[in-house]
Amino acid sequence: MPATPGQRPVFRFAPSPNGLLHLGHALSAVLNHDMAQASGGRFLLRIEDIDGARCTPKYEAAIYRDLAWLGLRWEEPVRRQSQHFADYAAALERLKEMDLVYPAFMTRGEVKSIVAAHGAQGRYWPRDPDGSPHYPGEDRERSPAERRRLLADGVRHAWRLDMARALTLVGKPLNWQETGGADAKTERADPSAWGDVVLSRSDAPSSYHLSVVVDDALQGITHVVRGLDLFHATSVHRLLQELLGLPEPIYHHHRLVLGVDGRKLSKSERSTGLASLREAGVSTAEIRRRIGL
Ligand code: GLU
Repeated sequence: MPATPGQRPVFRFAPSPNGLLHLGHALSAVLNHDMAQASGGRFLLRIEDIDGARCTPKYEAAIYRDLAWLGLRWEEPVRRQSQHFADYAAALERLKEMDLVYPAFMTRGEVKSIVAAHGAQGRYWPRDPDGSPHYPGEDRERSPAERRRLLADGVRHAWRLDMARALTLVGKPLNWQETGGADAKTERADPSAWGDVVLSRSDAPSSYHLSVVVDDALQGITHVVRGLDLFHATSVHRLLQELLGLPEPIYHHHRLVLGVDGRKLSKSERSTGLASLREAGVSTAEIRRRIGL
């Protein structure tokens, strides 16, 4: 069910502190903030730092500095995902009890060579909307005894969703309410396009998909406003919400700010980084103009 009418809207900006914010983040943050203000809603900031190898306190501090410079105010305390791994583990546990996840033991290299061997025979291998090959079926097909043995041997593994099983259990088409286009409309979710997505990584005790869905529910987020680069991920999020019995926010996927070369901005590019623009004396009014607000 979409968010209950009459409920006070709750928006969030949810950056990962694995690099410096750029103009694209500014668009997302300011849009969330402005939409919250316009609707008498709340604006939350969430730090998505489950990747302990790439996220740093330095980048987190830079997020607070850049957003404050843009004139944004958010509620405290800020939720930092690295402090809530138990919440994601509990959600994973529920999916394990429902027999919808399995331990996935293949390395990226192993997947790559299986896919390459397939391709060499001129055979098709499905890819997800981000272009990564679907995970091969071998681990999904293992017997419970074999799984137990590999786990007991301490073989490194992720946990993946058995997509076909999950879809069978849900047993109905999934949709979401999208307000990002010219007119609000219902989008059809297509989770199967992703194959068996990772819900807990081998190098982190959760995944983006699982933690974002758990947190949006725990924080009572009614409106998810984020870039179009995450449009297709919403299909996975809707499926997880359905499996875990979580409420369904309204989604608004906004246009992306592109570089002069027409490509998506990167966190390592200085010319569009908020900190370097600030240091160069660019005003926040100019930032708003550059992001088209
Ligand atoms: N943490 C994600 C990112 O920085 C955004 C998550 C979301 O808005 O759903 O790309």
